Amino acid sequence: MLGAIIGDIIGSVYEAQNIKTKNFELFSENCRFTDDTVCTVAIADALIHQKSVFETLRAWGKKYKDIQNPPGFFPTFFSGGFAAWLESDNPKAYEAKTNGCVMRISPVPFLIRDLNTAFKTAASITNLTHNHPDSINAVLAYVRTVHMCQNGAQPFDIKNALSYYHGYNMKRTVDDIRPQYNKFYGSCHKSVPEAIICALEATSFEDAIRNAVSLGGDSDTLACMAGAIAETRFGIPTEIKNQARTYLPNEILNIMDKMYDMPVLIKSNNRRSSNKSDEKIKE
Ligand SMILES: [Mg+2]
Repeated sequence: MLGAIIGDIIGSVYEAQNIKTKNFELFSENCRFTDDTVCTVAIADALIHQKSVFETLRAWGKKYKDIQNPPGFFPTFFSGGFAAWLESDNPKAYEAKTNGCVMRISPVPFLIRDLNTAFKTAASITNLTHNHPDSINAVLAYVRTVHMCQNGAQPFDIKNALSYYHGYNMKRTVDDIRPQYNKFYGSCHKSVPEAIICALEATSFEDAIRNAVSLGGDSDTLACMAGAIAETRFGIPTEIKNQARTYLPNEILNIMDKMYDMPVLIKSNNRRSSNKSDEKIKE
């Protein structure tokens, strides 16, 4: 989860002004946490304290929705659909296909190590807003990736699983993707497999973040999604952790620290009975 937040902070300055290189300053003065962090923390808060995800996501969202970004940033924290969901007195899922459902989900596989239970929890959270098959597929692909990393799977096997179960083209490299990657690729379908490739191809936590930012596109969310996977694969260097903390308010740090201090909510069930979750989700 901290890996997701760090990716969000580092990528924040490159969403409006994309770069196509891995050579950039990791933390700059203008870096800040964005909606990816707020939604991630909201889900962690709900899971840790066994509160309603619906209510908790709305509470955190409302609290941070009016934060003003400095010039050069995209003007709002939240996308139109999610902002409207926050504003509504009777919010309904709005069939979004965008990656906002994936950038917030990392606390689920972090706290719930049984794949079936993690799938169910992640799908029900996604259905609160992004009730579209592409979004459900992307969220489950992401949860599967983190779960496989937690269990020591190698990138080659993870890529095969994502192609087989989720229909993603995982044969591409970061260098293949970068030249034609478009600034406005915000859909799950065009950003989740790419972020996963950035993390699986990486040689370190920092390398994964650099891969993600170097694609261009929705930089904070790409780096956020790559970040939580890279955290699981490599851990996070202390220096990067400490630098990231300086960008975060206490109420976010408190939830984060609590999450790392607690035991996982549901342990892994290693029996092959978890195969049920391996039914093919999408061709
Ligand atoms: Mg963002």
